[in-house]
Amino acid sequence: MKSHRQELWFEVPTRRAFINITPQVEACLQTSGVKEGLVLVNAMHITASVFINDDEKGLHHDYEVWLERLAPHAPVSQYRHNVGEDNADAHMKRQIMGREVVVAITEGKLDLGPWEQIFYGEFDGRRRKRVLVKIIGE
Ligand code: ZN
Repeated sequence: MKSHRQELWFEVPTRRAFINITPQVEACLQTSGVKEGLVLVNAMHITASVFINDDEKGLHHDYEVWLERLAPHAPVSQYRHNVGEDNADAHMKRQIMGREVVVAITEGKLDLGPWEQIFYGEFDGRRRKRVLVKIIGE
């Protein structure tokens, strides 16, 4: 069995953002040489997510509004976690959007459904953070 581990680094200039990382994951897959197997992609930080959905601007705006309604950033004093920090909402947004995705690899390609794309969701940016890509198979 082949195994490949790679980290993708991000430094998002804003507090929140959604970034389509499908091309980077495909590049990792090419490097791995795996034709049949699985790829795990996970955020290595508790204030960021990896999720799969549509690369559609309106939807990303809707996510932003929905997440802000569920876990508003301000006032930061509403959260007990915010003692010396201000990112309690980012922890909650990460929980909702998820930590990782697993995608099947078939004939050397990501076996995604129609419109499925892999995203990095940043909820407390403006610093260097990373995503782990682990590929196993033959
Ligand atoms: Zn925190």
